[in-house]
Amino acid sequence: MKKVGVAYGDALLEYSFGIDHPMNFYRIKHFYKVFEKTFIESSKMDEILLIQPVIADESIIHLFHTKEYVDFVKKASVSGYGYLDYGDTPAFKGVFEASSYVVGTTIECAEQIIKGNVRFAFNPMGGLHHARRDSAAGFCVFNDIGVLIEYLRKKYSIKRFLYVDVDAHHGDGVFYEFYNDKDVLIVDVHENPRTLYPGTGYEDEVGEGEAVGTKMNIVLAAGSDDTIFYKKFDKIKDFIMNSSPDFIILQSGGDALKGDPITHLRLTPKVHYDVALLLKEYAKSVGCLGPLALGGGGYNNISTSQGWINVINAFLQD
Ligand SMILES: [Zn+2]
Repeated sequence: MKKVGVAYGDALLEYSFGIDHPMNFYRIKHFYKVFEKTFIESSKMDEILLIQPVIADESIIHLFHTKEYVDFVKKASVSGYGYLDYGDTPAFKGVFEASSYVVGTTIECAEQIIKGNVRFAFNPMGGLHHARRDSAAGFCVFNDIGVLIEYLRKKYSIKRFLYVDVDAHHGDGVFYEFYNDKDVLIVDVHENPRTLYPGTGYEDEVGEGEAVGTKMNIVLAAGSDDTIFYKKFDKIKDFIMNSSPDFIILQSGGDALKGDPITHLRLTPKVHYDVALLLKEYAKSVGCLGPLALGGGGYNNISTSQGWINVINAFLQD
């Protein structure tokens, strides 16, 4: 068994809305370059398994998304015209296949963990946390996190999930689609909804019905740096330590890092390292699966890649 599986292959570059759009293939290309330099060219691959991208079968996407919505994406994928939402997420030719690759690769990463080929895994293109069951939103077409949770429940009867999201944006597509699910524990750290898309994720939202107390939003004011983040770290830690999950998912978006062009936070990649290390240590101590980390957002390619490399480095630690 190798320690970390990293999804690596050209199919993940296909999820790209054009070079003038923040979500374009240069993000992943840059990450691959840094990854190659840090690990492949430095002969530090002993504990890393490269995972080839895999396309998800449509039936798997239906585990989370409605058939009507999947059909809508398929149609738009042929014409390549118009928007999939209200203006953030344009259609392009092949968007259905590109999005299916993101989902399939996240699932393949989980399969590699379950089969025991790797202990932890990372899909840089995964973490499309804004897509809802019936719609696209905020650069996200298919929600690979939502599909993954439904898939692991159906195929492996994995019941209880811990989802940690440090992307600058609130992960509304995961948060609200599982809001009344007591077995999906969520801690979502993000910029104040008053100053950033999608405008949701207040601290008084804690789940509903029998799921009260299984959700936690951590709101950071615009301009927040590491000092502010670490003031909230104990609260995050407490929530995680009491979660008793079967499987851990980390959405390690890089857009909360200083220098991101579309958000207003100023964290450093140390946050990525510390959160990944905490989740890894916790998973080891309780004997659950994961963490499986997903790249999420991040539109300054340099800082985003640093954050992601730090996630891999934390997983590689003894
Ligand atoms: Zn984001």
